[in-house]
Amino acid sequence: MPLMDLNDMLKHAYRHRYAVGSFGIDDTLFMAGVLQAAEETRAPVVLNLIATHFAEDELESFIPLVMQAAHTATVPVAINVDHLSDGALAQRVMSMGCNGIMIDHSSLRFSENVGRTAECVKLAHQCGVTVEGELGHVPGEPVDGEGGDEQILTSAGEVKAYVERTGIDCLAVSVGNVHGHAKGSKMDLARLVRIHQAVDIPLVLHGGTGLTLEQYRKAIDNGVAKINYYTGLADAISKRIKANLAADHRAVYRDLMHGVTENVRAEAVRCIKSWRSDGRAAEVSAQCRAVGEVEYVATLAVGNTASGKPGIEPVLQEAQRSLASIPGVARVSIGASRTHAGRYCVIVTLVNETAARHFLESQRHRQVTSKLALSYATDWSDGLYVEMD
Ligand SMILES: [Zn+2]
Repeated sequence: MPLMDLNDMLKHAYRHRYAVGSFGIDDTLFMAGVLQAAEETRAPVVLNLIATHFAEDELESFIPLVMQAAHTATVPVAINVDHLSDGALAQRVMSMGCNGIMIDHSSLRFSENVGRTAECVKLAHQCGVTVEGELGHVPGEPVDGEGGDEQILTSAGEVKAYVERTGIDCLAVSVGNVHGHAKGSKMDLARLVRIHQAVDIPLVLHGGTGLTLEQYRKAIDNGVAKINYYTGLADAISKRIKANLAADHRAVYRDLMHGVTENVRAEAVRCIKSWRSDGRAAEVSAQCRAVGEVEYVATLAVGNTASGKPGIEPVLQEAQRSLASIPGVARVSIGASRTHAGRYCVIVTLVNETAARHFLESQRHRQVTSKLALSYATDWSDGLYVEMD
């Protein structure tokens, strides 16, 4: 099925008091285990790509595989890129179809965190992408390189202003939770309660691995609608690899990796049930918006070009480059008709309907299309197209 709008998915969880599992995946074995768990328990799920775990080119070559797997799933899936601090990378992952981003400026001062996060929110919302911000700092995942990595608890007194000024859709909180191995983390429940009273948006808990069932339940009862969980899955994989090696010290790669997906699946099932997202897939599919690609198609017939003007082909190539740089554009193709001389088409694929609306209104699109239509076309027709059910 198409991707599910992440904001809708989290609001559903928030209203119905459960938390969607946002499982950190490093490769296709992780991903297969998580998707098997979601299918088995009929749970909505977030495939979470932790930006700091990948080189940029690795991330960009992994995303299409994740998109493909998400579309094959029969439960609602959203794809989130976590701990981004680079606006250009954020724009690229959105144009590749990821429908959630977490902007992490948590180690910066309040005003700087607000300013930089708000900038990303503006761009992301034009692309129909859900944004998570972080106030306070959950240690263990430093990203900015400017601030430190010490724990800063979220100030309940600041959250309202933070949410209003940034326009974020959901908020990562620091209430004693820690990334990585932190068995027995203390959760400052009183702080979480005050945060939840101050803002009416879904809250997100990072560092989900170190918490007890009791802590999860209390967090969910106090506004947490998404739990980011990675270390527990990575541990489940390491455990299996170590056991495979212990059983056969000459084991090669394939033998070492045998069964790791099964271990991820079992651990993700345990989490999904603890967070009460099992059995929610049907309601989420019925009540939340699906996000599918939209195509903008223009066809033009070119008469004898006016004297002094360059030929149409370099102009179309320039149009292709210009249109491709508009936020929310996945790809742009241009083509010359094989059957009708002088006819051309431009096909722009947008990541979703919201991105398509902003594309039509954007100044760059208007400039490009009016140049083509007014200066070159004897016949011009354009419009948006969506895939029919
Ligand atoms: Zn995190």
